Amino acid sequence: MMIKLSREKISSALALLTAITGLFSSAASIGNECNPENSIAYKQLIKYGVTVSKNTQMDFGRLRVSSPCYLEAWPENTKAVSDIVKIAYSYNIPIRTQGGAHSENGSSLPKKLELLIHTSQLKTVSFDHLNSLTAGAGIPIAYLKLYVSDQTSYFIPVANGGGIGPTVGGFISAGGMNESSEYYGGFWENVDSVTLVTGEGKVQTINRDNPIFRYLFGSMGQLGVITQAELRLLPRVSKPYQFTLGATEQFTFPITDGSFWKKEKFIKPVYWLNLLIEPARLAEARRDLSNLQKKYPHAMLYMPIYQWSITFFNFTPPLIYDKRQNFYATGIWGTQSIHPDSQEQLQKLNSEFNQLVLSKKYKRYIQAEPAGSPELYKLYFPADTYNQFRRIKSALDPKFLFNKGSVF
Ligand SMILES: Cc1cc2nc3c(=O)[nH]c(=O)nc-3n(C[C@H](O)[C@H](O)[C@H](O)COP(=O)(O)OP(=O)(O)OC[C@H]3O[C@@H](n4cnc5c(N)ncnc54)[C@H](O)[C@@H]3O)c2cc1C
Repeated sequence: MMIKLSREKISSALALLTAITGLFSSAASIGNECNPENSIAYKQLIKYGVTVSKNTQMDFGRLRVSSPCYLEAWPENTKAVSDIVKIAYSYNIPIRTQGGAHSENGSSLPKKLELLIHTSQLKTVSFDHLNSLTAGAGIPIAYLKLYVSDQTSYFIPVANGGGIGPTVGGFISAGGMNESSEYYGGFWENVDSVTLVTGEGKVQTINRDNPIFRYLFGSMGQLGVITQAELRLLPRVSKPYQFTLGATEQFTFPITDGSFWKKEKFIKPVYWLNLLIEPARLAEARRDLSNLQKKYPHAMLYMPIYQWSITFFNFTPPLIYDKRQNFYATGIWGTQSIHPDSQEQLQKLNSEFNQLVLSKKYKRYIQAEPAGSPELYKLYFPADTYNQFRRIKSALDPKFLFNKGSVF
């Protein structure tokens, strides 16, 4: 009885949310056949430890569900990612990348017969140069920050707040900012290069001079699989000098089935709706957010509206913020509410927030929010940005196989 009730509740929430915001658009495809084991592609992929999963999974928002039929891989280095992508690409198998599954828009949840590449085994850290380190894309950035502060006399300037969640690759794919961005800028100001496996398994190291670099931040897995990134470090003058130049380590962190947050059974989903706003419009934006909160009091258990200042140094990623200036990130946030009409209110809040953003031409941190669908991204991104993103996608992923149906 308990199970039946909760399923009914979930499906009515699914129907409601699908209507306006594109939420749940990736809800489970309950296919009746699931036998990729017989395919030639699978027989080649199995050599790389690829398995078939017949279980569904959800991301951190618990609003969307994956297909119950997909392939899974846990490659341990860039070469293995490249080999796997090469095979999948040659057989036109759609590929999806998953870091910590800490996002809420379903873009890391596999659809039917997709190949899901987990990055959790990409966990090598190398201290090749002073003032930087090269980190595997699957390492949770907050864990890495703690480790570096503890083990060296340097620190990682920007990582997420809110505990252990986003991975290095996932944080880049979202954009990445935090309270400390007031002093050090967005994550994009603190990364020197990104290694990306693109269509056909090509490996590219993209550094800051490459025009593609700025489009990686906020790209939500559309351009390929990020396998590692070189992160800038800053010295902690208060600590005696300690830095093991040349060392390489395998990083360990708690993990269950690929998504480490699942270990914390009792963590409730946290929802965010964020505006990225120029200083002159901050007061107006905060008023608008506060009015939305008052109108939908049960949508979530609200925390006070947050506000971070993001300082401009060298560039802003077009998929995040398209002006070369300081800006604020401010937003409504809170944990899931159990009020009977909370799902309905969350849906309405999302929908009204979408309209607000479009009508007032606000910027938002769309990559980190629950809403997301190809239609919404097309409406939201300025045409120039959208078209340029699409051009880069066509060059790196000519068959459009990476994270199909999420943005493109
Ligand atoms: C509680 C909470 C706190 C948060 N705090 C912050 C914060 O302080 N600052 C901030 O900026 N954001 C924050 N976020 C948002 C978070 O950074 C993003 O949702 C991020 O993308 C999650 O990373 P992940 O590794 O879990 O990625 P996933 O959820 O697994 O994937 C997210 C997207 O990135 C893609 N992706 C992941 N890894 C790779 C890779 N290696 N290569 C290519 N594509 C990849 C996926 O395909 C998917 O499209 C927070 C989110 C939550 C829920």
